[in-house]
Amino acid sequence: MRGRLLRATLAAASAAALLAVAAAAAGGTGNDGPRDPSGGSGPAKNVILVIGDGMGASEITIARNYAAGAGGRLTLDTLPLTGQMTTYSVEESEPDTPDYDPDSAATGTAWSTGEKTSDGRISTTPLTDEDLTTILELAQRRAMPTGDVSTAELTDATPASPVSHVASRTCQGPEDMAECPQDEKSAGGPGSIAEQSIDHEVDVLLGGGRQRYEQFIDAGPDAGKTVIEAAEDKGYDVVFDTAGLESVQPGQKALGLFTPGNMSVDWTGLPATNPPSGPQRCDEGQRPADEPSLAQMTAKAIELLDTSAGRRGFFLQVESASIDKRDHAAEPCEQTGELINLDEAVKVALDFARSSRDTLVIVTADHAHTSQIVERDSEPPGASSILVTDEGAEMMVTYGTAPIGASQQHTGVTVPVGASGPRARSVVGLIDQTDIFDIIKAALRL
Ligand code: MG
Ligand code: ZN
Repeated sequence: MRGRLLRATLAAASAAALLAVAAAAAGGTGNDGPRDPSGGSGPAKNVILVIGDGMGASEITIARNYAAGAGGRLTLDTLPLTGQMTTYSVEESEPDTPDYDPDSAATGTAWSTGEKTSDGRISTTPLTDEDLTTILELAQRRAMPTGDVSTAELTDATPASPVSHVASRTCQGPEDMAECPQDEKSAGGPGSIAEQSIDHEVDVLLGGGRQRYEQFIDAGPDAGKTVIEAAEDKGYDVVFDTAGLESVQPGQKALGLFTPGNMSVDWTGLPATNPPSGPQRCDEGQRPADEPSLAQMTAKAIELLDTSAGRRGFFLQVESASIDKRDHAAEPCEQTGELINLDEAVKVALDFARSSRDTLVIVTADHAHTSQIVERDSEPPGASSILVTDEGAEMMVTYGTAPIGASQQHTGVTVPVGASGPRARSVVGLIDQTDIFDIIKAALRL
């Protein structure tokens, strides 16, 4: 066992050394920046930003141990330039005071706009409720096609942040506006997150949340229509399953709504309990075939955007949402499967970047989360589960940031960030989440 692990570690180390040599060679040849996989200072044509919601270092390590082995490497581990990122948000009533444990709305706002806000806000300022311009909007001003992909509802906080401005993340559909009366169209506002995603004419919108788009618009030129009907009137090809997604032709705007709420998870297993559940193996491949995988959605989004971009390039955000949602629920198999599904989407992005080398790929999380690896025979006070990994060893995972049965908490530690392509070296060291906005803005010269 030990010899096998050591060999795997050595193999990974020599692969890393080779990458470093290749990077040094590419960097040393002068002004061929766009062909340099490890960075280069030249502009990027395309940017693909991949977010694992709640994907902290512990979630990545659990997934690596389970599926690649303790000495193995996931695809996201092969990103040549890596750093750490602070994720804190700020208090609504005192915007100069940090909130050390942020939510997905404030964090999505941070990289989307370059500004800190308070938990729950979507690309609006704390206290004063002003709209903050997003990186997606800047890309659109340059006539770049844009895309937004998520396994959550498309109106959930992470996919909402680049495409909308509302006072509360709860204002997802036109009939969900109780906490944002000032944003309703009948009050002269921009409408719900679903309405704004369509009114922004984001070229590719793929995910869950059909229930939000079936709601009726209350005012404005689309009054009385559902958001889906309004989208069709704006030229969207609206599709509801995997076959429909495959049928979308380049040149068409695409709205894919594959489930009423969040999309299904791909792996299932026993939830964590006290005493610990398991030892267990996870049941993989459980997602219904009529729901596309994150990798399938990512591949289709890239195909559609790259075709319509021509020489202008595109901006695409991709999110694996239920790493977070299943970490809240103390479900180690579900959480890990969603991270492995993210890793497959990262492979799609990196494969595209290999043929279209002026593509900046950034992979990171919005915030860290609960799950921790602890000693196999320990007795932690929270809910735990013992997973039997692909390499045949037992790994105890525990959840201890909320009482057993309650929703586990996000955590406030820094998260990993990795990148490849033009300007990728900007992520090295300790950066802040708002720096992602500046990195993408500089890379695309927006
Ligand atoms: Mg999210
Ligand atoms: Zn969460």
